[in-house]
Amino acid sequence: MPHPDTRTLQQLDAAYHLHPFNDNAALAKKGTRLLTRGEGVYVWDGEGSKLLDAFAGLWCVNIGYGRPELGAAAAKQMTQLAYYNSFFSCTTEPTIRLSAKLAELSPHDLNHAFYANSGSEANDTILRMVRHFWAVQDQPQKNIFIGRHNGYHGSTVAGASLGGMKGMHAQGGLPIPNIHHIDPPFWFADGGDMSPEEYGLVAARRLETKILELGPERVAAFIGEPIMGAIGVYIPPMSYWPEIERICRKYDVLLVADEVICGFGRTGEWFGSQYFGFKPDIMTIAKGLTSGYIPLGASMFNDRIANVLASQGGELAHGYTYSGHPVCCAVALENIRILQEERIVDTCKSDTGPYLQQRWMELGAHPLVGEARIAGMVGALELVPNKPERKYFAERGKVGVLCRDIALKNGLILRATYDSMLLSPPLIISRSQIDELVEKAWKSLDQTAKEIGIAV
Ligand SMILES: *Cc1c(COP(=O)(O)O)cnc(C)c1O
Repeated sequence: MPHPDTRTLQQLDAAYHLHPFNDNAALAKKGTRLLTRGEGVYVWDGEGSKLLDAFAGLWCVNIGYGRPELGAAAAKQMTQLAYYNSFFSCTTEPTIRLSAKLAELSPHDLNHAFYANSGSEANDTILRMVRHFWAVQDQPQKNIFIGRHNGYHGSTVAGASLGGMKGMHAQGGLPIPNIHHIDPPFWFADGGDMSPEEYGLVAARRLETKILELGPERVAAFIGEPIMGAIGVYIPPMSYWPEIERICRKYDVLLVADEVICGFGRTGEWFGSQYFGFKPDIMTIAKGLTSGYIPLGASMFNDRIANVLASQGGELAHGYTYSGHPVCCAVALENIRILQEERIVDTCKSDTGPYLQQRWMELGAHPLVGEARIAGMVGALELVPNKPERKYFAERGKVGVLCRDIALKNGLILRATYDSMLLSPPLIISRSQIDELVEKAWKSLDQTAKEIGIAV
């Protein structure tokens, strides 16, 4: 059923709502897409169209749409105690229980949660805590962060600075001082004749070169997404992260895994660091932590850092009004309960994940696809002009947007970054829904190829 007020709502939206990551003038002309309802892997728009959301909102609706238990958990907590702060020696039960739960779920000794409202803010917390950590140990000059070009760590001042998106740096005078970037690991465009595993080592050693260039005594931390999401799902070779870890240990540089996308089952493991086999000192979590039902992020610190901050850190001059918000923590707890009790992460690892991988890789045979890649339930298709060559279209991004819009008409939501079609469905997607997804993707690729004159 179309929403009766769709047109009016679109007009109000154009008049009064500035959208993030959009050209707002162009958007106002085109009209925004109104989403009205969600259930499982499907959402409905204002025109009444049912869409298979193969992007889980924005990498986040891991348990799928429409679970009443999360609403009930929020309503219960709101009724009992809607809010209290974590400042002034106070706390609430859901905040405590979630912290203990996160310590249990997190790998090795990432046992200490500091709460924020988003992934961006959690990365801001990390920037300040890490610099403070070194400063209180008489190394205030050890304050440089190294990230990666085209990495994404959010949109606040610290988040966007740690990230390596040029377009974001250009607005607002970023990055802030003492943040450097190295090239990301992306074998498709950068690996040349090397095998992916050889290339993974080469890409990781860029970190060592940068540390030596800056001086190890000045480098505080390295931050990276286990799988780089926003730029186009760059899945590094398995050799990459263990080598990064070795280099960080050698120079006593803290290793930060931004798990905002990879966390809570996306790779078939609870966290991306477990998928790649490395041990970060700090991790950022958000998105899948609540399956997007309510905003919540956290920075998880290991024992070493938490002990130094507790014993030498003095009063931490940092915090948010909503740090550890009881309603958000109650919803996160319910989300984690569902992920565990319904064995959603296990199923993604052993059953539906491998099935999605097999079917997604079949799309790699399409004439328009230069590479299909996937880990767990996060993947991409690299659209190319000449199939055998690992080369981009001359004008990047046009074909990706075309394919995205065609897919939408076919009832499938995929995201396009340049000409990479990105996949990140709710983890509860079934085998028959995977078949539907792949069938719609193939049809959309066919139609896109036809539009641009590539024979299928
Ligand atoms: C989305 C994202 C963020 C930012 O999270 P917000 O909740 O949007 O602030 C940070 N890091 C990664 C890897 C992300 O994908």
